[in-house]
Amino acid sequence: MVARQYDEIKKRVEAACLRVGRRPEEVTLIAVSKTKPVEMLREAYEAGARDFGENKVQEILTKEPELPEDIRWHMIGHLQTNKVRQIVGKTCLIHSVDSLHLAETIHKESVKKGIVTQILLEVNVAEEESKFGFHAEEVENALKQIQELSGVCVRGLMTIAPFVDNSEDNRPVFQKLNKLYVDMKSKNIDNGTMNILSMGMTGDFEVAIEEGATMVRVGTGIFGAR
Ligand SMILES: *Cc1c(COP(=O)(O)O)cnc(C)c1O
Repeated sequence: MVARQYDEIKKRVEAACLRVGRRPEEVTLIAVSKTKPVEMLREAYEAGARDFGENKVQEILTKEPELPEDIRWHMIGHLQTNKVRQIVGKTCLIHSVDSLHLAETIHKESVKKGIVTQILLEVNVAEEESKFGFHAEEVENALKQIQELSGVCVRGLMTIAPFVDNSEDNRPVFQKLNKLYVDMKSKNIDNGTMNILSMGMTGDFEVAIEEGATMVRVGTGIFGAR
């Protein structure tokens, strides 16, 4: 079941790319495997998945040793500073950096370990009170400050769009994040390191791709309801 659904989503990713004249290789499909057992992750792996997304540090730490080494682990959930020490060095990308303090903590732990951690800044584009993330207006200033930290490299922006019935309702959200991303790149605050726009989930990943996503995070569509 997982393999078939992974294939299906992969095809829909490709079709969405082609509709707007993008190359399918530009978009990375992240299989969001939170709460799912390693057997299901293995099925997705066998279907070709190499990028997996989790929202809890502990879940990455327990799943990682049981699965092939070439898996790229993406931390996509809210990260508490007291968990940073455990996760630094275990992920290819932390999508959910939502404060300067968190960025500084990741920087310090990375320097201690002699590595540079790749991060995205999470933006609360839709200004939902329940959501973490920088406000859009705060991003430029945050980027300038985080740019000074040698232990982290800002690779782009991420958002969690609102839960909606009609994916079209999120199109303006994705457009706004893309515009902010292009603006930040044009100001060159990032020293040219930004090339990732992480947006779109099961309900709206096709619209996100049409609006420029380079990473989509799909859970339910691949692994079924949680
Ligand atoms: C759970 C989760 C997803 C995947 O959501 P689905 O609707 O199941 O595709 C994507 N991004 C984040 C940050 C998540 O926590």
